Amino acid sequence: MKFRNFKMVDYVVYGRGCFNQLDEIIAPRRKEGKPMIFLVDHFFEGKALLNRIPLRGNDKIVFADVTYEPKTTQVDKLAQQLKDELGTVSGIIGIGGGSTMDLAKAVSLMMGNPGSSADYQGWDLVKFPGVYKAGIPTLSGTGAEVSRTCVLTGPTRKLGMNSDFTPFDQIVLDPELTANAPINQRFYTGMDCYIHCIESLEGTYLNEFSKSYGEKALELCQDVFVKKQVWDDECDDKLMMASYAGGMSIAYSQVGVAHAVSYGLSYLLGTKHGIGNCIVMNHLEEYYPAGVKEFKYMVEKNQIDIPTGICKGLTDEQFETMINVSIGMKPLWENALGKDWEKRMTREKLRALFEKL
Ligand code: NAD
Ligand code: ZN
Repeated sequence: MKFRNFKMVDYVVYGRGCFNQLDEIIAPRRKEGKPMIFLVDHFFEGKALLNRIPLRGNDKIVFADVTYEPKTTQVDKLAQQLKDELGTVSGIIGIGGGSTMDLAKAVSLMMGNPGSSADYQGWDLVKFPGVYKAGIPTLSGTGAEVSRTCVLTGPTRKLGMNSDFTPFDQIVLDPELTANAPINQRFYTGMDCYIHCIESLEGTYLNEFSKSYGEKALELCQDVFVKKQVWDDECDDKLMMASYAGGMSIAYSQVGVAHAVSYGLSYLLGTKHGIGNCIVMNHLEEYYPAGVKEFKYMVEKNQIDIPTGICKGLTDEQFETMINVSIGMKPLWENALGKDWEKRMTREKLRALFEKL
């Protein structure tokens, strides 16, 4: 048996208000005459957070348009613009949700690698390190802050640039930045973490490393979405650590059925990751009975709307596309259902599941 040897995030700072240390943290990473680029989620345009960004010299704020989830074309364009305008940069600091953090990772990598980001969608295809990169989440749940991937929709597939060069050099975990996110968004992204935990803990790839992180993350999600009556600062604190631990849990294991099916939705219909996972989880009693029961309780308790009927009226061809994307996620199915997963999840069964969504 060969065990995977993980590259992790190099530096982590956690705490309310730790964003204020950013200037000091990145100071040693600045290179003479080369700017730091702050890639900021477009939600913060015109918001007070911008005044707290430690701009120096010719540093720039670039807004990340995350109306849609990141695309390879968007990454290539951003990287090319920086190269054309500035030559090279000291680093990229991504401030936002999972989409902005993934964009920041991808753009940093493309500052050091030739061609298109689409060339690197896959495993260990990235050849050179990019520029320095830091991730600062403003939503909690995806685990993108700790993962070794950045999920991109490319010309032929939705797949990340998975590599040892992909993890951030630094992450700044300041729960204050997630305060006041809209309830539905907070829930969808938070549930990404909850679902990561269920899929990891119920999966066949589980080992003690993944279990330790997964159990802790699950407990934190339950504290926030099951036990708490009113959202408070402690919820933001806990959910940020849940996201971190949930991300660490899947580093050694894998996600499962909800993610495999949700990828099909997102590829065809552009359904966003968090909400897509929720739409699927709602119908997975057969695979995760206890998790789905609790998920439904959390939906009700937090008064969240989960869309239904999103596959109504799709053509056979469209169903085929979703089935192809979904069934192609082999490690996810193997983790969820075991080595003989193909016997348990047939195309017919998957079609029936898509039709329910
Ligand atoms: P997101 O980044 O797509 O953002 C969702 C919305 O919330 C956007 O409109 C954004 O502008 C807004 N937003 C961000 N912060 C906010 C705040 N503090 N207050 C109010 N609004 C705010 O959402 P997400 O769920 O964090 O990320 C989903 C993305 O993460 C997907 O693209 C998915 O593929 C990716 N993802 C990556 C990994 C990984 O390991 N790299 C893992 C899971 C998901
Ligand atoms: Zn996810």
